[in-house]
Amino acid sequence: MKYASSCHCGAIAFEVEGEIESLMECNCSICSRKGHVLWFVPKSQVTFQTPESAMSTYTFNKQVIKHNFCSTCGCSPIGFGSDGEGNEMAAINVRCIPDLDLSQYTINHYDGKAL
Ligand SMILES: [Zn+2]
Repeated sequence: MKYASSCHCGAIAFEVEGEIESLMECNCSICSRKGHVLWFVPKSQVTFQTPESAMSTYTFNKQVIKHNFCSTCGCSPIGFGSDGEGNEMAAINVRCIPDLDLSQYTINHYDGKAL
């Protein structure tokens, strides 16, 4: 399955290939503010239609996760990180996939507040 995702103004657009097996909502300081619902995939499953350089990037704390966002419309459809074994991962904010019906999925809650 291929999912098309974009920020609101379209400066960031990409496709994600894969099956959604689980979704996660996290209560850490940034996820709770932004309201992300996340789907983790290897970054190799993401194909950008727009240059990655079009994204602004915010990092904090250990600076290991790249919280990307659009500096024009403010949406944050994708973040980058690593799975702990050095593999590049993408955290897809599925709220930026317009064709996805979130009510069809179970959303797991992750306690990231303590991290
Ligand atoms: Zn935008």
